[in-house]
Amino acid sequence: MFNYPRREKLALLPTPIHKLEKLSKLLGGPEIYLKRDDVTGSVVGGNKIRKLEFVMADAIDKGYDTVITCGGIQSNHCRATAFVAAKLGFDCHVVLKKFDTPIIEANLFLDKLAGADIHYIDHDKYDNNLEEILKELQDKLAKEGKKAYIIPTGASFGIGNFGYLKAAEEISEQCKQKDITFHYIVTPIGSGGTYTGLSLGKKLYLPETKIVGVNVCDDREYFVKKIKKIWKESFAFMDVEIPLVDEDINIIDGYGGIGYAKSTQEELKFITDIARLEGIVFDPVYTGKALFGLVDQIKKGNFKKGEKVLFIHTGGIFGIFPKKDMFQFEK
Ligand SMILES: *Cc1c(COP(=O)(O)O)cnc(C)c1O
Repeated sequence: MFNYPRREKLALLPTPIHKLEKLSKLLGGPEIYLKRDDVTGSVVGGNKIRKLEFVMADAIDKGYDTVITCGGIQSNHCRATAFVAAKLGFDCHVVLKKFDTPIIEANLFLDKLAGADIHYIDHDKYDNNLEEILKELQDKLAKEGKKAYIIPTGASFGIGNFGYLKAAEEISEQCKQKDITFHYIVTPIGSGGTYTGLSLGKKLYLPETKIVGVNVCDDREYFVKKIKKIWKESFAFMDVEIPLVDEDINIIDGYGGIGYAKSTQEELKFITDIARLEGIVFDPVYTGKALFGLVDQIKKGNFKKGEKVLFIHTGGIFGIFPKKDMFQFEK
């Protein structure tokens, strides 16, 4: 069997899988199951912690003492990294893309709570010069005697992909225990690492399952390229090379709505309805949009009765708080 790179145990695993009984019944289509990666830990809940288990082991083994990472103001990934860094005794610098004066709340508040150094970068500069900004910060820290490891956006890169490769193995074991086969695994796509890891894992552990991504930003073409790139990066850490063809990449485009981290009333109403139907919070940036996409596709008949679909709840709960004033509750 294949050898994983070393991992630092940080997440509470395995996460449960359970059926969304009421939603499945309401739609009358496929059976919908949920993989609860929103409960991988408290403040470090969500999908990033699985990636960080491998990333931080790599950083420790290579003698780093500091991490630098980046994302939007309300980045779940930056928050997870800040807490993992605190736990492991690393300094943490987060580079955040800013539009207006940031409000210190939700994930950004938690970044501060965990003691991360925060660097706000104007959105234009961030979009055009991110790599240089990270490198400059790394050089500056080196002059202060710090050895800083750069974790790219969402930890979606070679070593980070192993988090969801391992999750695919975990799912295959749970399938055996439950004597169930999923026709589809559906996941949100934000920077591509979760999808890439699951797809690599599909080839090793879930031959009968199709991995489907719903992108919440950019477009299908962008992610096909990105997934191919980071897929290859993982080979540097593996003793096997797993081939990938375009047909392996299944992305349902068109559910990003009015833009990354922006919400429509329809999406917020959907999140409200699901919270009341199933007693589970989906976030407005990733899981709410992706589940909305899945439900819409089921209504269109693209997933069928008799099929079994596993949706990955990738977390992101804190992202709901900055939107609180936009929700229009009838009660
Ligand atoms: C980062 C994130 C995603 C997207 O995962 P990628 O691996 O970046 O594609 C999905 N859901 C939540 C809650 C996230 O924080």
